[in-house]
Amino acid sequence: MIQTFKKYFDPLAAVGLGAEGRNCLAYTAEEDAAHHLFGQFGAELGLACEVDGWGNSYLTWVPPGLSAELPAIAIGSHLDSVTNGGRFDGVLGVAAGLALIDQLQQRNSASERATGDGVALHAPLRVIAWRAEESSRFRVSCIGSKGAAGRWKQAEIERYSAVGSDSSSLYEAILPRQGQAPSPIDTDAVHTLLELHIEQGPILAHKRDHSLAGAVPVGIVSQGVAGSRRELWSLPSLPLKSVVELMLKVYRLAAEMDTTQRPFRATFTPPHRAPNVGRDQTLLTGADLQQQRRLLQQGGACGSAGETLFQGPQTFHTGGQPMSMRHGLDQIYMAALAIEQLPDDQGLSWPDFKCEDGLQLQLDLRGGDQEILQQGSAEIDRLIERSGFPCERREVSRTKPAPMTPRLAETLRLNAQQLQIPTVEMACGASHDVQIADLPQRGLLLIASEAGGVSHHRSELSRDADIERALELLEQALLNREYPLVSEV
Ligand SMILES: [Zn+2]
Repeated sequence: MIQTFKKYFDPLAAVGLGAEGRNCLAYTAEEDAAHHLFGQFGAELGLACEVDGWGNSYLTWVPPGLSAELPAIAIGSHLDSVTNGGRFDGVLGVAAGLALIDQLQQRNSASERATGDGVALHAPLRVIAWRAEESSRFRVSCIGSKGAAGRWKQAEIERYSAVGSDSSSLYEAILPRQGQAPSPIDTDAVHTLLELHIEQGPILAHKRDHSLAGAVPVGIVSQGVAGSRRELWSLPSLPLKSVVELMLKVYRLAAEMDTTQRPFRATFTPPHRAPNVGRDQTLLTGADLQQQRRLLQQGGACGSAGETLFQGPQTFHTGGQPMSMRHGLDQIYMAALAIEQLPDDQGLSWPDFKCEDGLQLQLDLRGGDQEILQQGSAEIDRLIERSGFPCERREVSRTKPAPMTPRLAETLRLNAQQLQIPTVEMACGASHDVQIADLPQRGLLLIASEAGGVSHHRSELSRDADIERALELLEQALLNREYPLVSEV
């Protein structure tokens, strides 16, 4: 199965791939090329590719003997990437869908030859490649899936068109595509929506490393996908130290509120930029940044209490939690950590670092349930008000937490048990297309991300063995009569 998967994954992941990572941003020529390739793969599978008014592409396979009128089971993810992103985020889930159709078609032919009957799928199988899931270009995520779900309002598109840092607006990107075929997730046509995604965090890889059998679990996101609130901060020219101190206060407050039952998280990310804009130009003046980087690299392991501050080019650790490097913001994170951890006599004079031209930051709040999200947002609002910090704040997006359908989670778990695939029940802090659609059933499966759970980076990686198991689980769930994905068969 992994070979079938690679037949689709390798070429799709190669679109936009360069030395710095994968650059296949929302509604660019690269994303168009990836969708074109998806359509070609559809043709090879004997399926016509449909494209909706948001540019989402989809293929539907109706196995012989099954009515095309039955609501489909859809498997989907996205083909776009962040700036300098990894190969697996999104492409994994789309290639998985293509591989499943390919595999099931082969099984169907073999079975027909042997017994005269094809494979007994419960429903037509649809593979969806969503558009513009990442927010790198337009500051808003899940544009395509949100469009397909009918969740866009005119005023919102105007708002995002205004905040986009790219020279073109969201309007210009989507308008030429409007007026095409119907939505791939029309609720009459799709019953179940599933997404397979690389985990954007270290939990699954960590569990494997600490399990006696070295078992690789598949994550079933039974605890739902977090909701978010994002806002953009415009800061005047300020010493870096004062910016970092406020960021630390926000992080600490979020950490205090975060519990296993009610996850809550705050993250600062750099303002999104057009592709090919150097990171150094955006966050700090180049000379300051170079100096800061040298100092921190010379400092090497300057963490305290056994923590390593800087661990090579991809990850560094805060309080035992690995974090991925995020473009220019890693410098600020490191500065924040250094302020926290370095004794004063280390010779770093922080007030010298000044963000001369002002600074833009995006604050991303995530909560596992609506109540903690609202409560956490209000606490942070109060903190910022009390600090009197001179930042101009503008909300750019809001999504509600999305529970996964309990029946679907249970079905996946039972199928995994039959295959002796270990599973982990988990929550998901990152946004995904699957959370947008309101369908009878929706579910998210995650597989381990190596290199400390690094995400949105060229070193992002999932192992073949993990991909293989997730594909086996999906195939089994599609074919199983005992624990079927769709209940009314
Ligand atoms: Zn993704």
